[in-house]
Amino acid sequence: MKGLKGKTVLVTGATSGIGQAIAAYFATEGANVALNYRNDPDKLAETKELIDEMCDCIKGCGGKELAVEGDVSEEADIIRMCHEVVEKLGSLDILINNAGIQTAAPSHKLETADFDKVIQVNLRGAYLCARETIKHFLDRGSGGIIINVSSVHEIIPRPTYISYSMSKGAMENMTKTLALEYAPHGIRINAIAPGATATPINSWTDDPKKKKEVESHIPMGRVGTSEEMAAITAFLASDDAAYITGQTLFVDGGLTLYPDFLEPWSAGE
Ligand code: NAD
Repeated sequence: MKGLKGKTVLVTGATSGIGQAIAAYFATEGANVALNYRNDPDKLAETKELIDEMCDCIKGCGGKELAVEGDVSEEADIIRMCHEVVEKLGSLDILINNAGIQTAAPSHKLETADFDKVIQVNLRGAYLCARETIKHFLDRGSGGIIINVSSVHEIIPRPTYISYSMSKGAMENMTKTLALEYAPHGIRINAIAPGATATPINSWTDDPKKKKEVESHIPMGRVGTSEEMAAITAFLASDDAAYITGQTLFVDGGLTLYPDFLEPWSAGE
């Protein structure tokens, strides 16, 4: 894709699922890739091994690599992470706000701390990463790109996942507001909204029976892959999408097309 080679991209939540695929995609396009990961004490060895593999892949494709530890629900981590990328890789051209979590509970029973955590990671974290990146874009004066990884739940209500739905709904407004505010500075901000995608965030990913049930709701009859999400993310960040800003691109196999309308609702219609 046009304009990605030699660019420096920071991917949050880069060691799993969609973020991992996005990092790999940018690497194959010849970008320099900063991989943000969380310091999870239970998974230290596993994470290190994966990061080493991903760094080798980035180097092998000709780009520079950097692993940056940081929790996106912590402002200090975000500020440090963005500085580290600029300092060690020499620039920051593209931010991918991918890190995300979800928690399920009937909305009237959801604990405040659980609600706050999801908002802090999915929304506040994405905003703070955008804020710090935009400061850098403005300082250097040559624009930049932000892609937010939203969800079909940006527009589809998701009962028992209220904090997740709210975070992604607000992400749409964040994408549009920041896109409008910074368009005059050459900064483009867009989002992708994945539909059901086979990654560790979903309990059905490794359960063929549950997965089949999920697929029965999708017009195209299958769930999406992280690689499909990565390709569209890279497209939006590339010069092929140079005139697109403030948009959310739904990548969902038709999930947002009101699938229940596929068949007439009554024989008499
Ligand atoms: P995943 O669980 O495989 O990956 C989530 C990533 O976010 C992990 O790398 C995790 O370590 C990281 N992360 C979580 N909390 C973090 C924190 N506080 N600081 C830094 N990193 C943190 O799930 P995924 O499906 O790859 O999710 C990626 C994004 O895609 C999320 O924003 C999610 O909402 C979105 N999404 C996923 C689906 C789907 O069906 N998989 C659908 C729509 C949207």
